[in-house]
Amino acid sequence: MRRYPGYLCDLDGTVYLSERLIPGARETILALREAGSRIVFMSNKPLQPRSDYAAKLNRLGIPVELDDVINSSYVLAQHLAREAPGARLFVLGEPPLLAELRDAGLKITNDPAEVEYVVAAFDRTFAYDKLYTAFLAIRHGAHLIATNADRTCPVEGGELPDAASVIGAIEGCTGAKLEWVAGKPSRMMVEVGLRRLGVQPHDCLVVGDRIETDVRMGIEAGTATALVLTGVTSPVKMAEFPYRPDYVLDSIADLLR
Ligand SMILES: [Mg+2]
Repeated sequence: MRRYPGYLCDLDGTVYLSERLIPGARETILALREAGSRIVFMSNKPLQPRSDYAAKLNRLGIPVELDDVINSSYVLAQHLAREAPGARLFVLGEPPLLAELRDAGLKITNDPAEVEYVVAAFDRTFAYDKLYTAFLAIRHGAHLIATNADRTCPVEGGELPDAASVIGAIEGCTGAKLEWVAGKPSRMMVEVGLRRLGVQPHDCLVVGDRIETDVRMGIEAGTATALVLTGVTSPVKMAEFPYRPDYVLDSIADLLR
């Protein structure tokens, strides 16, 4: 297969499975770089700061800088900082997301009358008082946006309810509709990735294990796409979706074959 100038590469299920590298992932990434390609890693998870993903990749033997990693919190913060600098937000999310938003110059408030955007995310501290504040803020005219819209997050031994459950609770009581999502399959994620890579869509290969987010996002943005079978999508499941990747690979190691 062709070598691309830029690769936008998913992490979980593509480069590693929890703490274990996919066999050949490291060698492949290093060889692609050696050949002159750039690689940006992406994750939809807003639970950890980007520095955690960067530290994990370094620990697993893949040298990366902070700016080689993007996640849904970062993409949301960057987008809001451009579209609505200094906007006042009420956030249903965890501390790393709050830190990312503050770093981008956005303001966090719990006063429903001040809130311009309600930000829904994966939040393991979600509780009725947060729902009530979000409800009042949206009644006051705040926009509803989210880091990601995944129903569940795969973890060792099972799954956890993800941001979709928080979004659903807010939509349920307000009748509001989510206005936009930063994470995959959103255009925002791929645009931040392409800017980082410094390439046009046709010079980028999106590599991921989830057909309805990774592959869909790449197709909609005009990049090439590769589905790897080391994560959540099996060949049987692939047939249930209307998206067809350019390449279906047993693993990321096949990028060089
Ligand atoms: Mg994945």
